[in-house]
Amino acid sequence: MLVRRFLFGLLFLCWTAFAHAGAGEEDFAAALVAAREEAYVTPAAALARLEALKQGRGGRELGLVLVETSRASYWLGRKQAALAAAQRAEQLGREGHDDDLLAKAMLSHGLVLSRLVHDQDAARRLIDKAAALAAAGGDLHLKTRALVAQGLLADQEGRTDDALDFMGQAATLARSGDDPDALAMALREQARLLAGIGDAAPALKLVDELVAIATSRKIPAQLAHARLTESATAARAGNPKRAEKALQAAVELLEKLEARERLAVPLANLAELYVQGRRFGEAARAAEAALRIAREVGDENGEKLASYQLGITYIFFRNVAEGRRMVDAALAGLKDDERYVRMLLDYAHALNQVGWGDVALTVYEKAGSVSLAAWRKEKQLSYEALQRAWAYQKKQAELTALHHESVLKAAELQTVKRIRTLWVALSATALVGALLVALLYRRVKKANGSLKVKNEQLFRQSTRDSLTGLFNRHYFYEHVVPQYHANPGRDGKPGGVFLLMDVDHFKSINDRFGHSAGDVVLKNVAARLAASLRGEDVLIRWGGEEFLAYLPGVTLDEARQLCARLLAAVSGTTIDADGQQLTVTVSIGFCPRPAGPAENGPDWEKLVHLADLCLYLAKTAGRNQAFGVADANALTPAAIAAADADLGQASADGIVDLVNVKTM
Ligand code: GH3
Ligand code: MG
Ligand code: MG
Repeated sequence: MLVRRFLFGLLFLCWTAFAHAGAGEEDFAAALVAAREEAYVTPAAALARLEALKQGRGGRELGLVLVETSRASYWLGRKQAALAAAQRAEQLGREGHDDDLLAKAMLSHGLVLSRLVHDQDAARRLIDKAAALAAAGGDLHLKTRALVAQGLLADQEGRTDDALDFMGQAATLARSGDDPDALAMALREQARLLAGIGDAAPALKLVDELVAIATSRKIPAQLAHARLTESATAARAGNPKRAEKALQAAVELLEKLEARERLAVPLANLAELYVQGRRFGEAARAAEAALRIAREVGDENGEKLASYQLGITYIFFRNVAEGRRMVDAALAGLKDDERYVRMLLDYAHALNQVGWGDVALTVYEKAGSVSLAAWRKEKQLSYEALQRAWAYQKKQAELTALHHESVLKAAELQTVKRIRTLWVALSATALVGALLVALLYRRVKKANGSLKVKNEQLFRQSTRDSLTGLFNRHYFYEHVVPQYHANPGRDGKPGGVFLLMDVDHFKSINDRFGHSAGDVVLKNVAARLAASLRGEDVLIRWGGEEFLAYLPGVTLDEARQLCARLLAAVSGTTIDADGQQLTVTVSIGFCPRPAGPAENGPDWEKLVHLADLCLYLAKTAGRNQAFGVADANALTPAAIAAADADLGQASADGIVDLVNVKTM
């Protein structure tokens, strides 16, 4: 009884273990396929799935998990993790004498060596060995993958014809079996390669097939990958509508899969398509989303592409300075991108569209030189590899086309620029002409108004002494002399006096305190004299330190009082000249005009001359005082001649009557 129960129990255990293992086997294979198909689109999710799948496994199963772990790590750019997983899988394959596992591990290893370590020789050795092992076995997916790996390596080394050959073989092989995933992989790579050399039509046919397979497979990650390939191919084939639809579908799938590490680039590409369709608002939104996501997940390439696209939309939104800043910064990091020249061309186009033709021209020229350099490099590479087949020629033709486009656009723009320059010159000339006419018109219009003011200014400038601000001799001749002749007096009152004043010992002020102190003294004396005169009196700076006043209608008494005031005004308080307190005096000589019209009496020159003689008397009498002719009516020609000969004597002889005025 006990034995029976034990045996039954053992049987049950065995059954459950077997049943579990069987179910686990199925789950394991499906999970591995799922992880494999996810690896490109959602590598992080794939890694998590693989990590869970790895638990408790060893041998072949562990090796298979590690093969896919290496791929997912590769897509995340984790070189060391990818290498370590592949090498461990290789080890497991060798230990278990499992050529199938070993080949798979070597392919993963080779991919990392080629793309991340950049050791093509080591990669080639591994991949060739793996391909030989795969060919001997019966795993269709592995065989396809080996051919694709050989194709990728050839492409990496610039052997495009070989690459196309391998991809073609891979697709043919995959079609012969019933592994849709293997066929999808082969079609994807073949289409990508054909599109890359500009063979768009056959590439699009392959894409049709790829999308059909991926749709029927119902693996979202695989379909997303297929849609991305479709979009890239359609874009290269010059079918932006299809490219946009495919890209929108891909973005939608990626969003559902939360494949944020793969979202930025498709969103940026979508923005580019929107820009091409001149839907700048949508473009800006897509580019902004791309930029945000790229920054969140640390996708550097996506960030550059997104900020390039965002910059382009800024330019179209006329925020040219900010747009240029973004685009220039982004392009500096995109020089190795295969679409670099295309991006330069689009940049130049955008600049030209918003009227920045000059900058656009330099960008076109840059695109021209970059494409020429790429053409030369490609040519060199192909010569080295002795590749003379059509794939090479296509690539060369495409680069040549890009170069021609750049040069053509630059030339076009140069012509436009020349015409524009001509127009600018013509318009500028017209504008200057119009401005001149307007200016002249305004001047003429203003002239009438301002002429009076101008004349007054000119008159002022020509009649005033610049140092003292007093009238000058010119004014005297032009205005005072006519007044003297026209009007015998003031308010009908007869008379009038010429009064000459001269600063005493002025030379010694200059000598002792300097010329500028002398100037200050002159200004001060002038101001004091002017302040002592009435409004109708005219004060003239007659010479250096000599002043002449003409006082119309003034009587002898008034003249006397005035002289006393003038003497006191000058000498009464000191003058501050450059910090020196100076006591300054003047001497005065005056001569009244005779009654009656000027024509009846002596010339005004004679009267001023007599005032000067009186001044001389004042100087010789000790300065700081005034002498003057008392009775102008007694100034006969004989009296004037006597005064001329010796005024002092004439006075003593009673021929000329003089008065003397001193300060108190
Ligand atoms: P007197 O009392 O005899 O008049 O002696 P004086 O030194 O004033 O006479 P004199 O005519 O010999 O000197 C006049 C000086 O005035 C000579 C000249 O250098 C100076 N002078 C003339 N014009 C100006 C001027 O604008 N500024 C200054 N600082 N000096 C002047
Ligand atoms: Mg003098
Ligand atoms: Mg003097």
